[in-house]
Amino acid sequence: MLLDQARKFDQDDSLASFRDCFFIPDHNGQPDLYFVGNSLGLQPKATSDYIAAELQAWQRLGVRGHFEDSHHESLPASTAGQWLDYHQRLTETMADLVGGQANEVIVMNTLTVNLHLMMATFYRPAKKRNKILIEAHAFPSDKNAVESQFALHGCKSSDCLIEIQPDQGQLFSTDAICDAIREHRDSLAMILLPGVQYYTGQVLNMQTIAAVANELEIPIGFDLAHAAGNVAMQLHDWNVDFACWCTYKYLNSGPGSIAGCFVHQRHATNTDLPRLAGWWGHDRDSRFQMTGDFNPIATAEGWQLSNPPILSAAAVRASLQVFADAGGMKPLVEKSKLQHRFFRDCLNEMLGDQVSVIAPEDCSGCQLSLEVKLDGIPGKQIYQRLEASGVRTDWREPNVIRAAPTPLYNTFEEIWTFVDRLQHAIAQA
Ligand SMILES: *Cc1c(COP(=O)(O)O)cnc(C)c1O
Repeated sequence: MLLDQARKFDQDDSLASFRDCFFIPDHNGQPDLYFVGNSLGLQPKATSDYIAAELQAWQRLGVRGHFEDSHHESLPASTAGQWLDYHQRLTETMADLVGGQANEVIVMNTLTVNLHLMMATFYRPAKKRNKILIEAHAFPSDKNAVESQFALHGCKSSDCLIEIQPDQGQLFSTDAICDAIREHRDSLAMILLPGVQYYTGQVLNMQTIAAVANELEIPIGFDLAHAAGNVAMQLHDWNVDFACWCTYKYLNSGPGSIAGCFVHQRHATNTDLPRLAGWWGHDRDSRFQMTGDFNPIATAEGWQLSNPPILSAAAVRASLQVFADAGGMKPLVEKSKLQHRFFRDCLNEMLGDQVSVIAPEDCSGCQLSLEVKLDGIPGKQIYQRLEASGVRTDWREPNVIRAAPTPLYNTFEEIWTFVDRLQHAIAQA
């Protein structure tokens, strides 16, 4: 029954053909069930052409590639352009994906680097207002970045770090977060939260939380590593101060690829804001006069440091084209919600209470964090059996399997097959 339903969903899926835009890794000649797009997204088939075009431009043009079109016959003419403003050709689609304006988004550096750049601007501790609020189970790099900012400012983490604990099992209610912000209103210099919590998969109510932070005039930033390309966002309308995300998870741009950063217009246009500066953030028209003055570009580009890695940016570009062709986040989120519902139906019907999902459906994106609760059987053993059968998920101690079907390349039938294999793995244990 459920398998028939899966096949029907796949038949009716207007995004089904996008699976062909990706290389699917295989296992003994069978395509993997690849449910780790939340960790490393798959490679679009066009990526190598986009990178090859820039490699060939470098071969043909050398340094002239900075100023001359790097057109390549394997790609549409619209993809040609000079390296000098290559990053600008990523901006519009990237901004659409997070609900930002073009002047608020810049693709640069990597996630943790961008977090530091944003904190250099937005964490301005004063005597009484010197604290940063994060969540108790923040991704290690986020906590490392925050604590090292304290050290740079001569503050002690024990005095300045506020870690909010989940109040509903492993999940946060929006009220608990908003109450914590209100409670510490006089001492908070900044707030840093995830858009989607990496372990539980919970999507936070960014809009409501940002509204409270705005009202109290506390700068708020979101780490969108697990949100970008996964859930719909309106960062501009929500008045989020800043946000950072990587492009190698749901954004399919390759390991360690160049990252995204959002600075709200009300800050991006303020060239007086303090920041860590570099020449690529300086006014483009006078950049090459090499005077050493720093007049920041009055957009998010004003936070750029270096001339960007073009080969990595080319991979981002190839991937963003797939998102644009698919119609952006709206249709993807619609399919993702349908897949999510179907995933839960399969789990309920085929596995009952042997496995539970941490986050409820109404605050989840692509990722389901499955808690394996079997007497005497270590969850990791189940995970390893899945791996051996060509199912790619990831394991998070102490007992969570994270599985994230993505609407661009996963099918409904794969979801059914995943639950079927999970059932077998449990039965064999
Ligand atoms: C994946 C991830 C990172 C990774 O940071 P990099 O600087 O790209 O290595 C950071 N924060 C969160 C929440 C993540 O999920």
